[in-house]
Amino acid sequence: MRNDFLIRNAELQPGAQLCDVRVRDGRIVEIGRGLAGEQAIDACGCALIPGLADHHVHVFALAARYASVDVEGVTDGAAFAQSVRAAAAQCADGAWVRVIGYHERIAGPLSRNELDVISPRYKLRVQHQSGVLWMLNSLALTEIGGAPFPECVEVDDVGAPTGRIWRGDEWLRTRIGVEAPDLAKVGARLAALGVTALTDASVTTTESAAKLLADAHRQGALPQRLRLMSGAELTAPEDSAFQVGEVKLLLDEARLPDVDEVAVKIAFARANGRAVAAHCVSASELAFALAVFEAFDAPVGSRIEHGSVIPESALAQMRARGVTVVTQPSLIHRRGDRYLDETPAREHADLYRCASLRAARIPFAFSSDAPYGDPDPWIAIAAATERKTASRRAFVPGEAISGATALEAYLTPLDAPGGPVRQVAMGSVADLCLLKTPMTEALRRPSGELVAATLIGGAMVFRG
Ligand SMILES: [Zn+2]
Repeated sequence: MRNDFLIRNAELQPGAQLCDVRVRDGRIVEIGRGLAGEQAIDACGCALIPGLADHHVHVFALAARYASVDVEGVTDGAAFAQSVRAAAAQCADGAWVRVIGYHERIAGPLSRNELDVISPRYKLRVQHQSGVLWMLNSLALTEIGGAPFPECVEVDDVGAPTGRIWRGDEWLRTRIGVEAPDLAKVGARLAALGVTALTDASVTTTESAAKLLADAHRQGALPQRLRLMSGAELTAPEDSAFQVGEVKLLLDEARLPDVDEVAVKIAFARANGRAVAAHCVSASELAFALAVFEAFDAPVGSRIEHGSVIPESALAQMRARGVTVVTQPSLIHRRGDRYLDETPAREHADLYRCASLRAARIPFAFSSDAPYGDPDPWIAIAAATERKTASRRAFVPGEAISGATALEAYLTPLDAPGGPVRQVAMGSVADLCLLKTPMTEALRRPSGELVAATLIGGAMVFRG
């Protein structure tokens, strides 16, 4: 029978007796020992856990990142050429190769001539780190058509394009079109990390963007269960290809929105049965969010995204208001040094709280904010327990939580981050992650490499 199989000898709780788990029609239908079945995977005592939920990610931005070669860290021309060729080797002849993060210190100014040497057979376009300049090779230039050229296209003495296009993104788009993002890479990468559900937290998600995501989900390119936030209207599809999530409030402390506008948004959310989610990376954004949540009665389940800075004085109000914090511990590792340097020492205790949220009984869940943070949840789990920056400085170590608690912050339901931890249990949906080690060992050195298999609705979406 399709989608009917057995996972034998799995560790469902650390140290507990091993079990066999039978999956049928997308659900767990039997848990026991010595179960019989033809199709089986032997877990050999390794941990079987619910699939992880990434509660805040930006799918299109992540797809664009995956579709580009980022050369920001590259130091010389030889390494630059090598990264471009390696990326091109993955593409079909004549395909576009998109490179981002270029700077003259890598290999000097680039024109079509230098780029033709590196890659004559692929349409190559290289974006300058500043974002104002694209550099194209000759094959790419054939796509943009002939003269006359607008001012953004740099030309030589005889009027031929040099390959350098200045502030020409919009014009380029009219010539080469908008590439449909390859969501399959996002789906595959997250599946390989054990992620079976995600919330896209983009304020910009329109009905048409939602349709692209839903179609990718239906076709299996993006197999994860989806919840989509948006800044405005969003209609839930009949086949539940995605859930409609919170109404996103994008707060920027330099230009906080008009209070009346926020009131309208919160009323809109309430009228549509949606909660709100406020982007809060500073104390003043948090204070504003809590004030408007209070004043306009934000629905239960409203969320504070990031919660990068939470003064102690805000904890009681957050608890009373029943808000959930969805935060990103992987940034402790990636940007922690900068945060410590740029934040006054007396405010360090307020940075990326975990243990004190738990002590204050404020529900919290983890997420990646990919592509701005690393999509690997296991890096976040390690960071939440270690609390070390990239240069190994201690980062508010008192906020450390155990590996088990950090993992649980990825195991709560998509529609209730910080809520009850999902379990591998009879009758539950077979969204599962099988590891290559028992749990105690996995939490000693959390790593995405430890994922052996990922199932969504009983279908195997990754096998390591
Ligand atoms: Zn975000």
